[in-house]
Amino acid sequence: MLIHRSKTRPVQVGDVTIGGSDSVVLQSMTMTKTADVKATVEQIKRLEDAGCQIVRVTVNNMEAAEAIKEIKRQISIPLVADIHFDYKLAVKAVENGIDKVRINPGNIGKREKVEEVVKACKERGVPIRIGVNAGSLEKHILDKYGYPTAQGMLESAELHVGILEDLGFEDIIISMKASDVPLAIDAYTLAAERFNYPLHLGITEAGTIFSGTVKSAAGLGALLAKGIGSTMRVSLSADPVEEIKVGRELLKCYGLASNAVTLISCPTCGRIEIDLISIANEIENYVSTIKAPIKVAVLGCAVNGPGEAREADIGIAGSRGEGLLFRHGEIVRKIPEATMVEELKKEIDALAKQYELT
Ligand code: SF4
Repeated sequence: MLIHRSKTRPVQVGDVTIGGSDSVVLQSMTMTKTADVKATVEQIKRLEDAGCQIVRVTVNNMEAAEAIKEIKRQISIPLVADIHFDYKLAVKAVENGIDKVRINPGNIGKREKVEEVVKACKERGVPIRIGVNAGSLEKHILDKYGYPTAQGMLESAELHVGILEDLGFEDIIISMKASDVPLAIDAYTLAAERFNYPLHLGITEAGTIFSGTVKSAAGLGALLAKGIGSTMRVSLSADPVEEIKVGRELLKCYGLASNAVTLISCPTCGRIEIDLISIANEIENYVSTIKAPIKVAVLGCAVNGPGEAREADIGIAGSRGEGLLFRHGEIVRKIPEATMVEELKKEIDALAKQYELT
C-alpha cells in the first residue's frame, strides 16, 4: 500500500505544518465577498469553531487583497489567498500578511512576474499551492490527450512545479482536483508517486450536502486509506461549516482526527425501546464541536447494547421507558427516557473536561 503522507516535505502555513507527518489538516473556503471584512471574519470564526484549521478566501480584486490585513488581525487560523492569473494580487496579498497563496505559476505570464511572486513569498516564508484542476488543463495537454486524464494532470503539475523549482522555491503544496472520482484518485496517486510535496485533497464541484458528501467520502476516503493527502477540503454547495463537519467525520473514519467525538449508534430494529433516531441526532449535533477523543454509543435496546458498544467510553442502551447508562461496556445506572439526552450530555461534558485537564 502506498503511504505518502508522512514522507512528504513539511511546509509551514502560518503556525500550521502541512506534510511531514501523519496529520491531515482540515480546511475550507469562505463564500463571502473578501472585501467585506465583517462578513468574512464572521464566517471564518464559525469555521474555526467547527474545527477548521486553515481557511481560504478568494482574492479576485485589489479590494480583496487590501482586506487581508484586517481579516488577519481578527482571526487566529492561517489564511490562504486564492488567486488566478494576476501576480499583482499575489504580491499584495503577501505584503498584507497572507499565510499561503494558491496560484499556478504557469498561468501568471512573463517570467519576471513569476519571479516577483516567488521573491515576495520567499522573503516572508509564504508557501504556494499549485492547484491542478481537470476542468482547466493547459491547451497543449488537452490537445495531446483529447480530454482530461490523470497523466495529463500530472504533466500540468510537473510544469508548474518545474517553474518554481527553477527559481529555487520548494515550499510547495499540490492539489489534483477533479469532479470525476476515479480520475481524481488516479491523478492524486500519480502525484504521490512523483512528488514528495504534500498533497491537498479535494473532489471539486462535488455537489450538495447529500450527494457531495457521498462523492467526497468515496474519493477522499480512497485516498486517505492509501496514506495520501496532508490537507483536505471537502467542497459542497452549502454553508462551508458543513464542509468541516463532513471533513472531520471522514478523518475520524481513518483515525486521523485525534480531537473529535465519535458517535456509534445502532441501525435500529424491532427490539428498539426508545426514540433512538432523535436521540442519536441530538447527541451528534451536541458533540460536533467538542474537541476530545471520546467514543459515545447510543443503542436502541439492552439486549446487545452495552456489548455491541464495548469500545465506547460512554453510552446509553434503551430499556422500556428508560435507558441504561454505561461506561466502557459496564452498566452504571438507569435514566428515565425523558432526561436521557440531558444526562448523556452531562456525562460527555465531564469526560471532555478530563481530557482538557490532562
Ligand atoms: Fe436492534 Fe438493540 Fe441492536 Fe439496536 S441495539 S439494532 S435495537 S438489537
